[in-house]
Amino acid sequence: MASAPRPDVPQEPPAPQLVQANSAARALNILGDRWTLMILFLAFQRVRRFDEFQGRIGLARSLLTDRLRRLQAAGILEKQRYQERPPRDEYRLTEMGLDLYPVALTIIRWEKRWFYDPANPVHRLRHDCGHEFTPELRCGCCDQSVSPRDVYVLDGPGARLEPSLPPRAQRRSIVPAGGLNQGNPMLDRAFQVLGDRWTSHVIAAAFLGRRRFNDFQAALGIATNILADRLARLVDLGVLRRQLYQERPERWEYRLTDEGRDLYPLIAELNRWGDRWLAGQAGPPLITWHRPCGHVLEPRLACDQCGRTVDVRAVTTPGMA
Ligand SMILES: [Zn+2]
Ligand SMILES: [Zn+2]
Repeated sequence: MASAPRPDVPQEPPAPQLVQANSAARALNILGDRWTLMILFLAFQRVRRFDEFQGRIGLARSLLTDRLRRLQAAGILEKQRYQERPPRDEYRLTEMGLDLYPVALTIIRWEKRWFYDPANPVHRLRHDCGHEFTPELRCGCCDQSVSPRDVYVLDGPGARLEPSLPPRAQRRSIVPAGGLNQGNPMLDRAFQVLGDRWTSHVIAAAFLGRRRFNDFQAALGIATNILADRLARLVDLGVLRRQLYQERPERWEYRLTDEGRDLYPLIAELNRWGDRWLAGQAGPPLITWHRPCGHVLEPRLACDQCGRTVDVRAVTTPGMA
């Protein structure tokens, strides 16, 4: 497929740039990585041991070790010894890690709605009300289902500029679907969209109203060649569409498609999680308001069958532990 023409942009890649803090982006600095997401999904299926992770993902030991270490450093997993001779540890979700379950559910929700595969057990989650269900984002105050058109965002007490993270040494972690993880259906499409720190950051910025190349660049502090690559990638994946906004010279902006806009529950949950665990004393950098009821949005993920909040202990995946 032909890639999108490069918009004309300043040539020099700016050094670590100051960008406006937001909790979804902070969360994605930790989570926006294919392997990290896979490890988390397995952890929610009660996978705990190194060899089990490796067998299920098929990842090189060094890469798996690196991702497990990062997740421990972030406070999401902790090591626990389960055997003394020889010493053996397992990896368990901390409270902070368990609190990512709604984030995981929003990823499942999106993939299920757009790429439903009845043969994929992850698309057929069952709630303890007895039904297969799709998680639904609701306002904790008025209990209405929340759409991105119904919310607006204002600065919070923790609003500030902070350095964008320098790019990691690694290349982007998008890999062809099917190369790994054989025989273990996961969320390939969702991981292609989110499993790269920069693609996920571009999506989060789009939800904050960025549309033009320079706006994304300013919001993310990202090198222009990487940004051009990720925008083209997201257009190919159907999450963004290009729209001409100026004829001479040609200028394009990037807007969320319906499919892209339907990622909003994920962004809302990333913000909730980041506000709770990463904002510290300063408090949330941004506050989301729910226009229909006039209150601050406190997102809750409900079962679309019975309406109750979905809890990790109340969900089973057919054919899995
Ligand atoms: Zn509301
Ligand atoms: Zn239910």
